[in-house]
Amino acid sequence: MSSREDYESLVSIILSCTKCPLHASRTRAVPGEGPLNASIMFVGEAPGGSEDLEGRPFVGSAGKLLESLLSSIGVERSQTYITNVVKCRPPGNREPFDGEVKACNPYLRRQISIIKPKIIVALGRIAGKTLYEMAGLKWSSIRVARGKVERVRVEGVDLMLTVTFHPAAALYNPGLRGELENDFKNVIAPLIRGLKTARKTTLEEFFK
Ligand code: URA
Ligand code: SF4
Repeated sequence: MSSREDYESLVSIILSCTKCPLHASRTRAVPGEGPLNASIMFVGEAPGGSEDLEGRPFVGSAGKLLESLLSSIGVERSQTYITNVVKCRPPGNREPFDGEVKACNPYLRRQISIIKPKIIVALGRIAGKTLYEMAGLKWSSIRVARGKVERVRVEGVDLMLTVTFHPAAALYNPGLRGELENDFKNVIAPLIRGLKTARKTTLEEFFK
């Protein structure tokens, strides 16, 4: 099966998934979106109200902030793959329970193995903890993890993992906004520039 076919079949499984109780209250499951050859993957927590209605990730106010953070470092949303730890909205936007994260985790694993991102940015504590555990790293807190870059292997894919605050948290707590902006500018942007340099070096060596 091509990765496109593999991906399409994953999406249709997610859209009709009933593996955890969140299926009962969702309007639409939100698998994720973006190019299958994206180098950068953003992983949020769970769909909110707008996402649940539209079936697309980060289309509400947190999504607007994410888009403006991306554009501040010269990246377009459409160049990135965006998804969440759980694909269905928890009622009242509560945090997903551990059992729900666990039930949904095989889908995130499949997405990583199909897309093979070079960089994963985990947005917020739940995404940070989930990805640290998937990578075999010890999670202590978002305060400790944020802004760090870890070289990890997830699903056989070698990648750089970094964690920052969730854009929604910065909307509720304007004090976090500056730190989130700094992480985009001082951590995420250099990682992305690193990708471009790596590609150029390879090409130069190729033509030597
Ligand atoms: N918050 C998230 O974690 N994910 C979304 O898709 C939207 C808001
Ligand atoms: Fe299935 Fe994940 Fe939705 Fe639960 S959150 S029903 S595991 S797709």
